[in-house]
Amino acid sequence: MKPVISFLLEQLKFLKSLRFRIFMLLMLAGAIPCIIVSESTIVNYRIRALSLKTTEAVNQCRILANHLATANYLDNPHNEISNSEIEQLSSFYDGRIMIVNESFKVIYDSYGLAVGRTMISKEVIDCRRSGSSETAYDKKGRYIELSTPIMGIEGGSAKGVMFASISTDSVLVSMDILRRKAWIIIITASILIFFGAMILARMLVMPFERIANTIASIEQDFGTEQVSIPDYTETESIMEAFYKLMSRMKSLDESRQEFVSNVSHELKTPLASMKVLADSIRGEDNVPIETYREFMDGITEEVDRENEIITDLLSLVKMDKTAGVPNVESTDINGLLDEVINRLKPLAEQKEVSIFCDAQPGIAAEVDRTKLSLALTNLIENGIKYNVPEGWVKVELEADHQFFTLTVSDSGIGIPEEALDHIYERFYRVDESHSNTIDGTGLGLAITRTAVLLHRGAIRASSEEGKGTSFIVRIPLKYAYTLS
Ligand code: ADP
Repeated sequence: MKPVISFLLEQLKFLKSLRFRIFMLLMLAGAIPCIIVSESTIVNYRIRALSLKTTEAVNQCRILANHLATANYLDNPHNEISNSEIEQLSSFYDGRIMIVNESFKVIYDSYGLAVGRTMISKEVIDCRRSGSSETAYDKKGRYIELSTPIMGIEGGSAKGVMFASISTDSVLVSMDILRRKAWIIIITASILIFFGAMILARMLVMPFERIANTIASIEQDFGTEQVSIPDYTETESIMEAFYKLMSRMKSLDESRQEFVSNVSHELKTPLASMKVLADSIRGEDNVPIETYREFMDGITEEVDRENEIITDLLSLVKMDKTAGVPNVESTDINGLLDEVINRLKPLAEQKEVSIFCDAQPGIAAEVDRTKLSLALTNLIENGIKYNVPEGWVKVELEADHQFFTLTVSDSGIGIPEEALDHIYERFYRVDESHSNTIDGTGLGLAITRTAVLLHRGAIRASSEEGKGTSFIVRIPLKYAYTLS
């Protein structure tokens, strides 16, 4: 059953095509008005033709009824002239005429069937009572039925009634001819519309096909040459959006490549140092034990550094991987800050740097505890690391009804203005000379920034060389979940 359904769906795929839909719309928009116009013309013609025929017949019957009244036909039904007049009229309209006298007796029937019979019908009674002509259209029998009063010789009220059934066949025949002609026009127009719609649908869809071809022709290099398809504003904006996406992908690809080469470089540097250290003691005989120890210390230091880089890389990768779904919970920010400061106090003492904390109490926010703690640690640790003996690091925490703001300022060496734009880049370190003396991987601020952005927050740095640096982090108190 399933293969049959999927086969049918495959066959009906063309229904989804824009070209087919435009074609159908044009066909309907062309053919339906054609049919409506021709049908309404035919119906109007019928109404008009019937009404003309009725009016004309009413007049003719009235004239004849007058003649009959003058000739006192009701009392003298064998009047030859009158009979031939009635005969003429009935054959002219291809119908039947009956004359009913005062006592409801049929005294004349052009079909000769009802003479002598009594005819008490509603039409005859109505006509005699009102004294005026009555008309009705019998759709089934395709006849117009007319009742005309015949006055007495001395005038006064109607004495008899002339009852006429007039055939409408001639109207219906002309209508059939008209309808046939209309359908010839409709079919010819439909054929023209069919081809016109096919050509137009193809032309209208062409720009979209060009988009598909352009996109398909772009090879892996993300296409440097930009093709614009300005036929519609829509196609133009599709192409603009596409090239924007391409350039984003291009820069992502470049940064991925750069990241990979930076990682390899950073991981290779400690390994190269270890190899140099190991080679130099291997190549010498009778090396004193002190030298061995010194070289082994060097190797241990490089292993530590390698370890540090890998730990930082792992934090960064983890954060990138889970980006968008941080493990958010309501957190006591004051408590978290105290924890981070306490953990960093030994390092601060070692570097002879004092830490001050000025926190507005009772701030709680929806954050990912681990990630925010990592971000804070990096900021405060940097404040301590890039500081001077007897220096200070000040941490301030405050909140309004929407955000909490953390400011980490220090009295350290500062960051040159031109470097401020790059400090969040992975593996970026301001100055290679101090990089040699101060431990670091160049990944700390990249991790911090990723963590802050993950919380839909913002980070800003200001610094003055030789005076100090200050980082301001602003994070919403309530985590904004967005559907992705
Ligand atoms: P690192 O592991 O080198 O500290 P970061 O990403 O944390 O890497 O910082 C990048 C660079 O920015 C550091 O190498 C340092 O030169 C500079 N920097 C960061 N914080 C400070 C600060 N508080 N004072 C001075 N320089 C800083």
